[in-house]
Amino acid sequence: MYLPILTYHRLLAADPDHAADPKRIAVSQAQFRSHLGWLARLGYHSVSLADYPQQIRTRQRPAPKTFALTFDDGYEEVLTLALPVLKEFGYTATVFAVPGQMGGSNAWDDAKARLLSADQYRRLDKAGVTIGGHTSSHVHLPQVEASTARREIADSKKRLEEVLGHPVSIFAYPYGESTPDVEALVREAGFEAAFATDRAPRDHSENLFRIRRAVVFPGNTAWNILWKAQGWYPAYQDFKRRRGEGGTR
Ligand SMILES: [Zn+2]
Repeated sequence: MYLPILTYHRLLAADPDHAADPKRIAVSQAQFRSHLGWLARLGYHSVSLADYPQQIRTRQRPAPKTFALTFDDGYEEVLTLALPVLKEFGYTATVFAVPGQMGGSNAWDDAKARLLSADQYRRLDKAGVTIGGHTSSHVHLPQVEASTARREIADSKKRLEEVLGHPVSIFAYPYGESTPDVEALVREAGFEAAFATDRAPRDHSENLFRIRRAVVFPGNTAWNILWKAQGWYPAYQDFKRRRGEGGTR
């Protein structure tokens, strides 16, 4: 069981340079439009991740040419730059939010990027975007005390549910980092499933609390994205990795 899930972080209005994107996690809005435009032209459909845990549990295979889009951290650009493009192509997405910093900035990093406010999250929610948890302050979950990890996970769910007025059922690990103990805490908090990055099982039914995603990098072309939207991509990526060729781009 595998659904290609693309992981974006930041979008920028212009092509990212080092000053605007020192951590190399951004793509331009034009690149994003090109990625989605090609997927749309080739007949790909996006699905909401809110329904995916149940589909995995009941072994309903994703339809051919379906994929999901995710944005980690909840940068303001999801609303200002991504949503208009999603609407152009009739696509939906999921945002993994850091609610302890809502309306603030990415304090865990350089604090220079603005994050979505509570009101902006409500607008995205109304526009059909799924919102998930990503801890309340973007901590390295395997490195903090268990009590801190428990609070960071549970608070992200509670705060988002207060803002949105409905249950929040999915979670993504900051930095893609989890351990079996961390995964147990996410389950205990009441989340149905949790998403990692590309170091996770290729079969999504193997561990609902460590679901693999394909990370999008700056400079990824529509061709790269098309590869990442294929069911064989994780096997290819692991093969390249075993040969020491990276293969994560
Ligand atoms: Zn993150």
